[in-house]
Amino acid sequence: MILIDGKKEAASLREELKKEVSELKAKYNKVPGLTVILIGDLTPSQIYVRNKEKSAKEVGLNSEVIKYPDSVEEITILNKIHELNQDDTVSGILVQLPLPKHINKKKVIEAILPQKDVDGFHPVNVGNLSSGYDSSVPCTPLGCYLLIKKIEPNLNGKKAVLVGRSNLNGKPMTQLLLKENCTVTITHSKTKDLKNECVKGDIIVAAVGIPELIKGDWVKKDAIVIDVGINKTEKGIVGDVDFREVSKHAKALTPVPGGVGPMTIACLLKNTVECFKKSI
Ligand code: NAP
Repeated sequence: MILIDGKKEAASLREELKKEVSELKAKYNKVPGLTVILIGDLTPSQIYVRNKEKSAKEVGLNSEVIKYPDSVEEITILNKIHELNQDDTVSGILVQLPLPKHINKKKVIEAILPQKDVDGFHPVNVGNLSSGYDSSVPCTPLGCYLLIKKIEPNLNGKKAVLVGRSNLNGKPMTQLLLKENCTVTITHSKTKDLKNECVKGDIIVAAVGIPELIKGDWVKKDAIVIDVGINKTEKGIVGDVDFREVSKHAKALTPVPGGVGPMTIACLLKNTVECFKKSI
């Protein structure tokens, strides 16, 4: 079984980006800038943002984190986004989710200029992705896609089973795999006989949020299995895939942690560099 080393792949992507950023700096005398807005003091969000900032600096991006307390008014966030939209030194804007209940997520996402939407959540980018046009692609599915392509460059005709249909993961993943001529099945909480769907997959991408849902006998021999899940349990952080069982069946599998997570951050940097290149 191939253990898909997301840490290694992310490090190599960051290395490529670092080189590209230094070339861009030499050519244009400026570097891409990423601004992250962090609201509240949720520990996971703070950790994600700290990691994003560290990685952005490592590849040579201008990185800024703007913090607000939980009680901040929605209008303050919208005004800040409008200000950042006009700022030429900012190539990408990310508002860390989840947001406090009194702030409307849709309004916030739609306030970001699609050209600066490094998360790929703006409806214009969602529409462009599903129409097969150039767009920002959400970082986690983009990371999954790059890992799958490393193992299997030609996905023509492969059967892909996506477990989970969220806007963040399952839906954009569908578009990426359709573009590669996969036959895609999207499953969700109302799917009848999930096991029967999974066993047909040459590729399985699990983004559910249920610890070790995908069992060994749900996976056909030689399948590529990508585990997006991050679940806190008594035995520590585990994915949506039963790693011990599935590793006996699959051709390739991502570990949790150390699989999709590091690629998500590297893809955020990649999206920021892409936004910068389109802006010059
Ligand atoms: P989400 O928005 O809660 O979506 C979960 C999806 O799973 C939904 O489509 C839901 O179906 C489906 N589902 C729930 N129970 C199911 C079941 N028994 N069988 C089949 N499908 C089921 O979650 P998300 O934001 O996509 O995140 C999923 C997981 O990925 C979480 O563990 C999260 O922490 C992790 N994550 C990791 C990264 C990373 O960088 N590694 C990034 C983002 C998220 P319905 O639509 O019918 O409700």
